[in-house]
Amino acid sequence: MNIRDSEAISALLAAAGHSEAGSLDDADIVLLNTCSVRDSAERKVEGYLWKLRSWKEERKGRILCIVGCMAQSAGGSLLEKFPHLDIVAGTSAISRLPELISNVSPGSGRFSDTDEGPLPYDDISTHVSSGGVSAFIPVTRGCSMNCSYCIVPQVRGGEKSRPAEEIIEEARSLVDRGVVEIFLLGQNVAAYGLDRTAGKNESSPFAALLAKIAEIKAVKRIRFTSPHPASFNDALINAVCEIRKVCDSIHLPLQSGSDRILTAMGRRYSSSEYMEIVAKLKAGRPGISFSTDVIVGFPGETDDDFNDTRRILNDVGFDQEFIFKYSKRKNTPAAEMDGQIPLKTKEERNKILLDDLKTRILARNRSMIGSEMEILIDADSPRSNNRLIGKSSSNKTVVVEKKAGIAVGSFATAVIEDATLAALYGRLK
Ligand code: SAH
Ligand code: SF4
Repeated sequence: MNIRDSEAISALLAAAGHSEAGSLDDADIVLLNTCSVRDSAERKVEGYLWKLRSWKEERKGRILCIVGCMAQSAGGSLLEKFPHLDIVAGTSAISRLPELISNVSPGSGRFSDTDEGPLPYDDISTHVSSGGVSAFIPVTRGCSMNCSYCIVPQVRGGEKSRPAEEIIEEARSLVDRGVVEIFLLGQNVAAYGLDRTAGKNESSPFAALLAKIAEIKAVKRIRFTSPHPASFNDALINAVCEIRKVCDSIHLPLQSGSDRILTAMGRRYSSSEYMEIVAKLKAGRPGISFSTDVIVGFPGETDDDFNDTRRILNDVGFDQEFIFKYSKRKNTPAAEMDGQIPLKTKEERNKILLDDLKTRILARNRSMIGSEMEILIDADSPRSNNRLIGKSSSNKTVVVEKKAGIAVGSFATAVIEDATLAALYGRLK
């Protein structure tokens, strides 16, 4: 979501006459787009803000601005803490950034704008024009799931869905600019439209949206993140199995494999319900791969709870896992729970899962040597002039030697010849 918001900010500022600076030295304005999900993210931003003090003082008229979730949650207190900061712009203030920036002139003051926006997506449907082959489209904003550890509902508000016509229009305009892969975004995309539709469990407005986007001829691939397992109903499972343009890679956040911890997290599914979704998708879509988010060291997590998580991760056989050490967030129920886990235990559990993951990915990647896969070339290699980088539908990164007629945006077949933890290496057929 933040990458997408940063892109929208760039587009809005470009439309207001600003251009991207080549370096910090050249910049007149610095905007830090921030995340609040974990404490470590906020500490990093604070460190960076202090470092930017000398940048700000070096030249008169420079403007320093903090945007996004951390700005929303800390608000005006950031102006007090950082005397060289000019603008604090919350999660709904993105569309007002050009105006806020033009209002900061010497002597006219500093601003904090954390007001709620009037519409969910009045501001950030803007895209930069030099688009690549893949583009993000937010379909919802905010979240109403209220997981007990999470700050997102506080800083981004309750879930609001965009009208389907607006999303489809945006997809059409993106493919007119050469985009072939659409990446749908939201905190819980599977709940898309459920805030305006009755009968939550029978239908899936998100499944209907996937079908509509797949009807656009020039859209070749569709990805989405994140679907909450509690909203991943059969209608959505069927859509994923049937719509071929939906990629073979599903991000399905598990968080924990222990039912006790899932309940304490307020996740609204059990480990067996989670496994049922995985089993149905594996059966209906052979070759599908999964990625997930998992939190270690949630308050009260015992060795047994942790081992339940470890077992499920291995049973599903994830191709990618984003493993987080539980981080206390203010005004969340989990922050007040008994049984907070020491950092050392969190680190040990984190390492065990990372080691499992590395072993699994390396073995899986090596098992692909000799196979063929269709890839979408999405970039030139930053390390070699002779190489291109592509992605398989299952989200594997594939590095290939250049070949005449194949460029960024092309689909091609790669024969896999080598594999590491990070990538597959192949030759184009
Ligand atoms: N809406 C998405 C997740 C958004 S936040 C979902 O539910 O899947 C991304 C990830 O950060 C979460 O999936 C969770 O694993 C992690 N996370 C959120 N709050 C956290 C906290 N307080 N401590 C550690 N990890 C956290
Ligand atoms: Fe946070 Fe839960 Fe919403 Fe994800 S679903 S953003 S973890 S509250």
